[in-house]
Order: sequence, then structure tokens, then C-alpha cells
Amino acid sequence: MRLPAEPFRIKVVEPLRRVSREERERLIREAGLNIFAVPADSISVDLLTDSGTSAMSDRQWAGLMMGDESYAGSRNFFHFRDTVREIFGYPHVIPTHQGRMAENLLFSTVLKKGDVVPNNSHFDTTRANVEHQGAEARDLVIAEALDPVRHHPFKGNLDPVRLDRTLGELGRERVPLVMITITNNSGGGQPVSIANVREVRAVCDRHRVPLFFDACRFAENSWFIREREPGYANRSIREIARELFSYGDGCTMSAKKDGLVNIGGFLAMKNAEWAERITNLLILVEGFPTYGGLAGRDLEAMAIGLEEVLHEDYLAFRIGQVAHLGEMLEQAGVPIVKPVGGHAVYLDARAFLPHVPQSQYPGQALVVALYREFGIRAVEVGSLMFGHRDSQTGEMAYPQLELVRLAVPRRVYTTEHMRFVAESVIELYQQRDRLKGLRITYEAPVLRHFTARLEELSGAEAAAIR
Ligand SMILES: *Cc1c(COP(=O)(O)O)cnc(C)c1O
Repeated sequence: MRLPAEPFRIKVVEPLRRVSREERERLIREAGLNIFAVPADSISVDLLTDSGTSAMSDRQWAGLMMGDESYAGSRNFFHFRDTVREIFGYPHVIPTHQGRMAENLLFSTVLKKGDVVPNNSHFDTTRANVEHQGAEARDLVIAEALDPVRHHPFKGNLDPVRLDRTLGELGRERVPLVMITITNNSGGGQPVSIANVREVRAVCDRHRVPLFFDACRFAENSWFIREREPGYANRSIREIARELFSYGDGCTMSAKKDGLVNIGGFLAMKNAEWAERITNLLILVEGFPTYGGLAGRDLEAMAIGLEEVLHEDYLAFRIGQVAHLGEMLEQAGVPIVKPVGGHAVYLDARAFLPHVPQSQYPGQALVVALYREFGIRAVEVGSLMFGHRDSQTGEMAYPQLELVRLAVPRRVYTTEHMRFVAESVIELYQQRDRLKGLRITYEAPVLRHFTARLEELSGAEAAAIR
């Protein structure tokens, strides 16, 4: 499919600062080879995340001016609540400042120590919030998802057989809810099919366990359903989203993704008793139920963004732009996860740097080089993010996939920016033999990738660690 032209024109511009290679080299060294610690104004194309980085529309900016900052009962809350009810179909709507607060409120209300939460793949904050309650975050994505080059239209699907077995073994006593992440961020931004959601729902019903969505990229997932799932080609994105959510009991949402806002999130659900307990907690830690940690104007921007994200011209360009970046890389032989997901292209760092073992963080080595050489910021989703010491054996355990994510912010970069990124990655691929492995010099006990410091290994050290 030909990539459509940007379905927007530019009304405001944000100039990018030119940064020399010497300055980048110094900045990444001072940052302890951690891209999170590099100042953002020293970055040319920032593909760290698609979260909170969207460009808002003129209507959303106008919405900010319509903010009603009343402590209680702001009109923006009602607009927001009605929009969520209309699209998601869940009656109880609880605004939060972002997705992880929705996770924290939900899990601290419904989980107890020793519980298990099945999911296709937990996102890092989701996993951390489950584990923070002393519960286990169990990933049950289909086996195809773990093969980076295996084609499958819905590689984000949750394995219903393994779910059935898990629920059979543990029962609803130990599994207070099942989650499905749409699209599956940690697994490459891969979509989940409606057929799979129906199957998962049937398993949940059999064991009488509620099903929640981690709905961050629900519009992108709905687009893939229309493109790929038999029977959905003539349905609107809104209808598909409604059907998808009709199989669930609720959702957590980071509106920093498919809400097209820079801050915001929510929890929505059917269960009135859970909603009441969560609302009480919300008042304690986040804010009054009609603003939940946000300003009235933020709720207005979110309500408008949730509508705009369902526009078909927007989604055709959005998904097309990410696919186009993937095609340019693939044509040059760069190893990427296939098929390309909705919000990002993922480089397969093990295939990219076969001479760097996982114990030396090949994904992070790639991230460092992309910044140093080209000023591009990507993020590692591999041994730095998920590597940990096994509590039983004491051995280091590494994730199956070692990826570098090039996440594309919504409505921010043009097709030319994407061409610059593709050409840079291709150039790095041609010089890949020169890249070295890394070692950690500092790490925090949880979510270490955000603050870790690393250093480059010399040739002799690399050989010794292997
Ligand atoms: C971003 C994200 C979250 C967490 O949301 P925040 O707004 O960053 O707190 C949870 N799940 C998934 C799948 C995400 O992509």
C-alpha cells in the first residue's frame, strides 16, 4: 500500500537544535550510556517513546482554553466520562494522571500476595505494579510471538490453552483478573484479534474470572482488526473498538498513547464495588473523582483526542508511516521484528549484533550508537529492561527477545524524518562489527533501565565476560 501524505498541515513549528558528534559523544558518556539521562534538546529525532509525545490538534488546543478548573463537577469531566462510556462501554470512569496510576489503583485494590495475573505480555510498569503487590505477572502470549521473523497477523494473541491451564490450576481464588494488552507493546506492538479476545473471554467465563484490557493502543489495534481479520473490512473503527471492549469487564488506559495527549489516563469498569473502593483510594492518593490528578483542561484535551484517534485518515497515515519505516529497513537487510507493529519498528538486536552476547546488552549498545552517531534516540527492550537474577537459582535470566524499539510519536514527524532514521540505521548496520558490548556500573532494585549507568567493555573484557 502506498503511504498516504500526512493528513494534516503544520500550523506551529518547534525548531530542532543542531548538535555536533563531539557534543553527543560527551553527553552520552556523562549520561552513563543511559539514553534516559540525555537532555531532550540534544536529540534530533526522538523515538524513545510514543507515550505523551503526540502533537495535539488545533481542536485539542482550543479545548485547553475551555478548561473548567472547578474542584468538583468540572464540565470537562462529564465530556470526558461520556466520551469514554460511548467508546469503551464501561459505566464507571475514573480519571488518573497516567496509565501506571490506573494500574496501581486497580492492583492495590484487587490483588493480594501470591496472586497471579495472566496477560499476553505485561508492559514494564504493569509488571512492576503487579509485583509490587507481591503477586506474579505471568506472560501467556502465543508461541509465534517469540519468533521475531515469524509472520502471524495477530502476534499479540494470548494463548487460550495455557490460560485455561493456569486458571484450572490456580482457580479464581488466586487469579483476581486476566489482562490483555492491546496492542502488545512488550511483544513488538503486535495486535490481538477479536476472535482471540472471544476465546479468552470464554475461558474467563468458564473460570468466572474478570477480563481487563490494557487499552493504551486500542485504536491502532482496531485498525489492524479491520485490515486483517475476516469479517471486519466494512466496519468502522469505532464499531470495532466497541465490540472489542464489549468482551471485557474494564480497562486501564494510558491516554498518552491513543488518547493523543501529553498527560492523562483512566480506569473504566463494570464492577461497581471495585469502582467504589478504587475511587476512595483515588481521593487519598491522586485527586477528587472528577479530576483524578489532572486539570480540567487536560480532561477536555483527552476527550477530544479519544475521538480524533478513531479517524480513519489519521490511522491510515499513522500505521502506514510506521510500516514504511519498517519497509525501508527491511529492504536494506536490517533485522527487524515482523510483521511491523502499530506504533514502532523493533530492531532485533541479537541478529543485528551477533558478536555481542545478551550478558553484554547488545540492545543498549545499539541505542548508544544510534545516538552517538546520528542523534537519534531509541529505547532498549531486552536484557537491560527485563534481565534479572532468578530468585531460586541466583543465575541471571534474560528475556527471549532482545529488541531496540524505534517508537514513532503520533502526528509529530514527517516522512522525511523517517527516511533520515532509516538511512542512519542502515549505515550503522553496515558498520555493526565496530560496536562493543556494555557492562552495568549502577542499577536500581526495580525498573532499573530508567536509571542504570553503564560503560563500554574493551575487547579483552568482553571476551572474559562471555
Ligand atoms: C505506557 C503503557 C503503560 C503505562 O502508562 P503510563 O502512562 O506510561 O503510566 C501501561 N501499559 C502499556 C501497554 C503501555 O504502553
